[in-house]
Amino acid sequence: MTATVPPARLAARVSAIGGSPIRDILAVTARPEIINFAGGLPAPELFDTEGIAAAFGHVLANDPGRALQYSTTEGEPALREALAARTTVRGLPTTADDLLITTGSQQALSLLATALLEPGDTVLVENPCYLAALQTFGFAGARIVAVPCDDTGIDPEALDALVAEHRPKLLYTVPTFQNPTGRTLPAGRRAAVAEVAARGGLWIVEDDPYGELRFEGDRVPWIATHEGARDRTVLLGSFSKVMAPGLRLGWLRAPAALRRACTVAKQAADLHTPTVNQLAAARYLADRDLDAHVAKVAAAYGTRRDAMLKGLPAALPEGSTWSRPEGGMFLWASLPRTGGYDLTALLGKAVACDVAYVPGAPFHVADPDPTTLRLCFVTQTPEEIAEGLERLGRALKS
Ligand code: PMP
Repeated sequence: MTATVPPARLAARVSAIGGSPIRDILAVTARPEIINFAGGLPAPELFDTEGIAAAFGHVLANDPGRALQYSTTEGEPALREALAARTTVRGLPTTADDLLITTGSQQALSLLATALLEPGDTVLVENPCYLAALQTFGFAGARIVAVPCDDTGIDPEALDALVAEHRPKLLYTVPTFQNPTGRTLPAGRRAAVAEVAARGGLWIVEDDPYGELRFEGDRVPWIATHEGARDRTVLLGSFSKVMAPGLRLGWLRAPAALRRACTVAKQAADLHTPTVNQLAAARYLADRDLDAHVAKVAAAYGTRRDAMLKGLPAALPEGSTWSRPEGGMFLWASLPRTGGYDLTALLGKAVACDVAYVPGAPFHVADPDPTTLRLCFVTQTPEEIAEGLERLGRALKS
């Protein structure tokens, strides 16, 4: 008789968390005929390919031994210094030592989860929330609790009550041009959030990959600049939306003890972020005008937002509402509740009409709203956006 050998097993967290529905949609929407409002893809024709190629060329020609070598976990000093200067100019005094370079800001979220969360700890998030953050906190075994939000984001009074009730370890927020809604938390609420966190003794993770992409209105200071938040806020930045996501370059600014813990976590994760990418980015910042490039990209994105705002009234059923972001990449729409719409179920019809969006339901931690959807307005030209919205209108009417 042969003994039954039990199957080799995966960790329970793998089946508990599951893949990102957006990544699944992206796989379906790779067909070239699809107008894709689903992926959060920066417009590829606006990448400064020439400038980035020149920076890589310079680094590989002049310092190949360093560029192709292992580096420190903290990151290349030239890049950290340039990023510290950019952060300081934007109102948050920062030195190179305050920063840890990460492999995209997504890695910063994983490092923070490792450094801060015990299984069962409570994490407060916006409702709806950036999906891959929910995955990361889920993998860490966190209890995720949604903070009630309105058209301008977190409601500080509701936050205060939840802090008292749940004693959370951290609040995760994307206060500027949020993914998925595109909304921005006003200055007064930022101060209130900082104050609640200071009183409640929790960390704030302020994730800001989109803030530079403003095409309208005035910049709102980071939560991290508020007095009460200084010693408890982690600010995350990224080159993904302003330079190119394929570089996988992000950074975190955190108080010393937490930054050291994240550095140790990063040693275990990937030793360091690719040296050549870091040095090329530092070279780019030294030789080129990133702000001028970003201004050009943001202006184009503003035109694309306008194209989307123009096409939406005809595409969506009467009674629909949508956000009007002043920057970033995403717009959030709600169809009338009385219409019985389920945007998850309708996605197949949309894809059959060669257009894609992301249903809003998976972004919600609580009360998933089936009538919501996220539309990315930056990947296509204004003409393609108009055509894509016509297709969406046909799909929703059929
Ligand atoms: N945070 C938010 C809110 C995002 O939308 C994204 C990318 N979609 C990330 C973090 C991760 O970006 P990256 O790792 O490319 O810097």
